Amino acid sequence: MFYQTPLLPDNKEKMKISQIVLGAALTEWGTCLNMVVTASDGAFIARKQLQSETAMNPAEVIEAIAQFLDEHGEHARYGKLELAGCALTLEAAIDAAGTNTLEYFELAAWKDYPLQSELSALLGGAPAAIDTLVNGLLIAEFAADSPAYSIPQSVALVDIDSSIMMSLAYRGVILRSPQFGALGHMQIAADGAVCSCGGRGHLLTIASTQAMIGRIMHYPETIQRIAETSDGIAKTITPQQIWQLAQEKDTVALNLLNDLTQALAYALSFIVEACDTDQIIITGDYAQFGQDWLWLLNHRIAEFCQPKRAAQLNRIVKLGTFHADRYVRGALALAASQIGN
Ligand SMILES: [Zn+2]
Repeated sequence: MFYQTPLLPDNKEKMKISQIVLGAALTEWGTCLNMVVTASDGAFIARKQLQSETAMNPAEVIEAIAQFLDEHGEHARYGKLELAGCALTLEAAIDAAGTNTLEYFELAAWKDYPLQSELSALLGGAPAAIDTLVNGLLIAEFAADSPAYSIPQSVALVDIDSSIMMSLAYRGVILRSPQFGALGHMQIAADGAVCSCGGRGHLLTIASTQAMIGRIMHYPETIQRIAETSDGIAKTITPQQIWQLAQEKDTVALNLLNDLTQALAYALSFIVEACDTDQIIITGDYAQFGQDWLWLLNHRIAEFCQPKRAAQLNRIVKLGTFHADRYVRGALALAASQIGN
């Protein structure tokens, strides 16, 4: 059974000037909580990031959100603020009704937790929603394009980070069921590396940002080149730096980029063909590579598709709007969808 969330809520004009929405996103294996409140005119009022050594339990997360809201209950410009909607997105398996977290990284405290009602209760009965990070992203992408945007019949969003997740909407509603959308665990190479799930050669092991950065660590000379181009201050390596190196025709970077693009193209061709998708939005670090990479990706997807579908790829596949703070923007968009519900 699929739970259905409207893809493009059109209710922002219902907000009063003193009303706010609160979005929170729990990422990095439950250890990083990003929270934002915005006013009815879209202005950011406050944001806060909370880091924890160990994965937070649901009660801690809700308490932190409630405290954050308390700290910003008044605003010089807007006066006393009223919470019109809130949302928490996280990479949990959520029940079909969108109320309980069924599972979250095998953490006992999250199992069958009534997250939606507890969140609403702690925030004074405000309309609350919980959903996955990618479902929030899909709503954010459409909210960013509204109101002019026309909703395609079917749309998929693929978010590539240390995980690779997919969200799918059909006729304007997001289709959701527990365990849906773990595209990263699609098998690409039967004899490939062992995945975190125990399987072999999954998309994650080739195309995730973690896999990309992990593989480049085997090439000290390439690492050295990255350090040189970033004035020797490269403590961490980013996909953007590897992309830059590939532009300079570095063989290692080119091979790496080629492998991950090929693996992604293979997985995406299934969505293009099997789901008959009108649009695929790609978000995450690789979306920042821009149109040159998109051209390369489409070229590779075309090799796996029927000629008729291949000719349509330029209008099917697009890159996402949001990058570094995309998860919390997704939560905000989901929170805005709660207004008036
Ligand atoms: Zn796997």
